[in-house]
Amino acid sequence: MTKRLIALLPGDGIGPEVIGEACKVCEAAAEKFGFELEWRRFPFGAAYYLEHGLVLPAAALDEMSECRAMLLGAVGDPRVKPGPLEQGLLLALRFHFDQYMNLRPALSFPNVPTPAALASGRRLDAVVVRENTEDLYMGIGGRGCGVMAEKIEAGRGLYDLSGRLELSFAPAVEGAFSLGLMTRPGIARITRKAGELARARGENKVAVVSKANAVPHLYGFWDEVTRQTFSDEFPDIEPVYVNVDAMCYLLPRNPGGWGVMLCPNLFGDIVSDLLSALAGGLGLAASGNIGDGLSMFEPVHGSAPDIAGSGRANPLAAVMSAAMMLKHIGETEAAAAVEKAVYDYLAGPDKPFELGGRDGVAAVGEKVAALVKTR
Ligand code: ATP
Repeated sequence: MTKRLIALLPGDGIGPEVIGEACKVCEAAAEKFGFELEWRRFPFGAAYYLEHGLVLPAAALDEMSECRAMLLGAVGDPRVKPGPLEQGLLLALRFHFDQYMNLRPALSFPNVPTPAALASGRRLDAVVVRENTEDLYMGIGGRGCGVMAEKIEAGRGLYDLSGRLELSFAPAVEGAFSLGLMTRPGIARITRKAGELARARGENKVAVVSKANAVPHLYGFWDEVTRQTFSDEFPDIEPVYVNVDAMCYLLPRNPGGWGVMLCPNLFGDIVSDLLSALAGGLGLAASGNIGDGLSMFEPVHGSAPDIAGSGRANPLAAVMSAAMMLKHIGETEAAAAVEKAVYDYLAGPDKPFELGGRDGVAAVGEKVAALVKTR
């Protein structure tokens, strides 16, 4: 029997609760489709940081790299100020494993109310392909009064960047800057992912989100390289360029009118949250941080400290993230069975608390796992 080693990082707040249920559902799928899952647990998150003063020991990265994929709950705790966990854990993993694609599907689910009406007969089935390592999220910037001088250092799978940026104001005023940067190979590889996904979905268009009119250096380059990559390698796919502001206007007016949406890092973050809301909320929004090495799958929601321990968390976003992970490791039938079980559960009479029902976190997990087994 094939054995799949999966890294598990349950994290903080409702993270362990929702990941526990996602594992339960994956185990049911593994049993049904004849493979074995072995989980390698990592204790990192706020509690570990507060106890040990350390976010992510270097040795853990080697242990993680032996795994086929990672399933992550949520990281964050009101006792830890924003910064060290996001930078030292989530972004560190993303950059270390060069997870250059953030994949965020937005789907309609039965009985899940949505804030914008869908045109008759249409369902929301969009997916954001977000570049995950460049743009304004390089983590490079600084501030100063009169003079801003910053040493620049960034390591990516594709390149190492180093240098120094010096700016001076006359007269001396206080200012701050963030460096947005993109490279030809960085844009080309994410464009390929979007093209392959559109082909796999049987689509011949990709919406490319941009803002080249206002930020021509960065997004003009983005437009040029994406256009070139589609025309050289995906002549069957037409890129349709939409400015990010226009996209935020068009999406709520016609949520069912979109398929693959290729976005630079910053706009992908914004557009995918808008899409999650249009699809019915955080409780069902799944995501994957995908690269050529270890890929990491996680619900979009955070650690929700306000409901942690109450049993009221909805684990379906974690379950849908686990389905993405199963698909990524090649267990496509198991992934499809998990997705179908989530649909069937929601189409039935029961609902999680988050959606106005009475099912607690464990009840949802058990019911979905049972549906996977009986399918
Ligand atoms: P973070 O900064 O880590 O994203 P946050 O508190 O800003 O944390 P979330 O943790 O995503 O954001 O929570 C936002 C709101 O949505 C909270 O009221 C939370 O209780 C609710 N929420 C988030 N995820 C779930 C879930 N899986 N089930 C039920 N409610 C949830």
